Amino acid sequence: MPEIADKVAVVTGGSRGIGRAVAMLAARRGWRVCLSYVSDAAAAEAVVAAIADAGGQACAVRADVGAEADVEALFAAADRLGTVAGLVNNAGVVDVAARVEAMGAERLHRMMRVNVVGSLLCAREAVRRMSTRNGGRGGAIVNLSSVAARLGGAGQYVDYAAAKGAIDTFTLGLAREVAEEGIRVNAVAPGIIDTEIHASGGQPDRAWALASQIPMKRPGTADEIAAPVVWLLSDEAAYTTGAVLQVTGGR
Ligand code: NAP
Repeated sequence: MPEIADKVAVVTGGSRGIGRAVAMLAARRGWRVCLSYVSDAAAAEAVVAAIADAGGQACAVRADVGAEADVEALFAAADRLGTVAGLVNNAGVVDVAARVEAMGAERLHRMMRVNVVGSLLCAREAVRRMSTRNGGRGGAIVNLSSVAARLGGAGQYVDYAAAKGAIDTFTLGLAREVAEEGIRVNAVAPGIIDTEIHASGGQPDRAWALASQIPMKRPGTADEIAAPVVWLLSDEAAYTTGAVLQVTGGR
C-alpha cells in the first residue's frame, strides 16, 4: 500500500497515562494525532501543545467513547486533520475493588459501555474510513487489552477483566473480518503500568504495591506500552494481525 502523506491516528483517552505516551510517540513517528478525553481538557490541550512544540500536528476532542454521537464527532474532527489511517482504542476505566456479588448494574453497564462498546464504535468509524471495500486506503487498529483478561481479576474487578476478554475476542474477529481490506487489527495487553488508573480504582499505590508479583519486580511505564502500540500501527508490523501482544514484565 503506498504511504499516506497526511495520515492521522485517532488515540482515545490521549490526555494522560498510556494514551498520552502513545500520542506523543505517534506524533514523533510522523502521525497527525487526534486525541480524545472526557474530563480533563487542560491535560488534553497540554498534550496537543507538546506535540506542536515538537513540530507535530494534533487536536483534542472531548468525546465519551461510549456515546455514539461523541464518537462520530471525534472522527469528523480527525477527518479535518487528514486521512484516518490509525486508531488506538486506549480509553478505558476500572472501578473500585469489589466481588461480583457486590456489583450493581450501573457499574457493569459503565464497564462494558466504555471499555467494550466504546472500542467497537470507534473501530466501526475507523473501518468505514480505512477499508478498501469502502474506497479507503487501509490502516491499522490497536486495542488496549489487559493481563486481567488472562488472570480474571478475582476479588477485585472481574467486570473489568471480562471487558478486556471481550476486547481480545473482538481483536481476533475484526482482524479476520477486514484482513483483505487493508486493515490490520491487533491488541496490546499490558501488565501493571504506573499510571493514574489505579487511583481511579481507589488504590493509587497499587502499581508498586504489586511489584513483588511481577517477574521483573517493577511496574511498567506508559512509554514501555506506547512503543509496541506505535510499532503495531506502523508498516513494520505489516504481516501482524489478530495478535494480542503481552507486555507484562513477565507476569
Ligand atoms: P488512565 O491513566 O486512567 O487514563 C485514561 C484515559 O482515558 C484518560 O485520558 C481519560 O480521559 C480517558 N477516558 C476515560 N473514560 C473515557 C471515556 N468514556 N471516553 C473517552 N476517554 C475516556 O488509564 P491508563 O492506565 O493510561 O490506561 C489506558 C488503557 O490501558 C486502558 O484501556 C486500560 O484499561 C489499559 N490498561 C492499563 C493498565 C495499567 O496498569 N495502567 C494495565 C492494563 C491495561 P480524562 O483524562 O479526560 O479523564
